[in-house]
Amino acid sequence: MAEETDTGVSSRLERKALQKTKIMQRESERKIFRLVRRVLKKPEAERSVDEAAVLLLHKETVEELCKRQVRRNVLKRKQDEVFDDAEELKSKVRQLAVAVKQAKHLVVYTGAGISTAASIPDYRGPNGVWTQLQKGQTVSSSDLSKAEPTLTHMCIKMLHKEDLVKHVVSQNCDGLHLRSDLPRQALSELHGNMFIEVCTSCSPVREYVRLFDVTERTSLHRHGTGRRCSHCGGELRDTIVHFGERGTLEQPLNWKGAAEAAKMADVILCLGSSLKVLKKYACLWAMNRPASKRPKLYIVNLQWTPKDDLAVLKIHGKCDDVMSLLMDELNIQIPAYDRAKDPIFSLATPLQPEEVDSCTREVIAPPNGQEDCLPEPGEQTEGATAVQGGWFGRGYGKGRKKKKAA
Ligand SMILES: [Zn+2]
Repeated sequence: MAEETDTGVSSRLERKALQKTKIMQRESERKIFRLVRRVLKKPEAERSVDEAAVLLLHKETVEELCKRQVRRNVLKRKQDEVFDDAEELKSKVRQLAVAVKQAKHLVVYTGAGISTAASIPDYRGPNGVWTQLQKGQTVSSSDLSKAEPTLTHMCIKMLHKEDLVKHVVSQNCDGLHLRSDLPRQALSELHGNMFIEVCTSCSPVREYVRLFDVTERTSLHRHGTGRRCSHCGGELRDTIVHFGERGTLEQPLNWKGAAEAAKMADVILCLGSSLKVLKKYACLWAMNRPASKRPKLYIVNLQWTPKDDLAVLKIHGKCDDVMSLLMDELNIQIPAYDRAKDPIFSLATPLQPEEVDSCTREVIAPPNGQEDCLPEPGEQTEGATAVQGGWFGRGYGKGRKKKKAA
């Protein structure tokens, strides 16, 4: 009995000693790292003989630190916004115009960068939602419903009307493609539409288009909007697809349309997307085909994208600038957005009188003489409140959790 206790004690002591050695070792490694880093920061000419000797002695640490620095520089470069100068931009757009004219089946992929001119911030740009939330700043919802289709949205709609663009795949939830009067069958809103709520109890799924952001109470895995289907009484849900969710709704996501378009495409034009999310959707890129049989990629984005190396042409410019030059080259007039022709007003289902309190978000003002879609005036609060849930902070919490765990 006593012997057993003795061996127990001694093995415990051994374990402790081992742990202590490990801790000391780690501490000494850390010291070396700090020392080497300090020496490396000095210009070579200012290093003393001793310091130079430290670098020679710890070659592996020097290598590791240099590798880390290179990785940091690459990361930083990827986040930088780059602008082509005016001449370069013009010549690149000329190339793009030729591609658009010659394409048999041009498909457009769009991201938040096409809506920044409508004062909807993008996600990863210097003033993007993620960037702001990461700095601990709040994001205001006041501009969301005031946003209108941008010049880029109107150009895309026009190019589709002229039969130059066959399909548009968007990761934006702001509903601006729909509001530019691009036909539904030519549009896939892969991450949903903030103006659309649906009843999945009805068959087929029943859609309710609203004149306000329906997502104020929804978040990751919680899609109920609090309103009910006027046909079956089932709870309505938003159509937003958050990070980590699989979008299964047929509309407005229209995956079928997106996949078919990608299959037929000979040219893909990516506008204002970091492509970090879109690149994960294999069916959009025909990656199962040999490189020479894949659609030709044209990318317009200020920042680096993971598809840059595969692109025929990368244009560093603002979408509105590029599209305006492109329409010039193609000799096509850019239509102005006209609120009176915004299809959302004819698509929208007015709220029932008892539902009027269910929405505190700002309502899109209809053009004059079509006021019957609006909830009672005076029921809305000022739209300047900070956005908590909904499509806007989509995925942010998850990204942060991941970071903490790492
Ligand atoms: Zn229903």
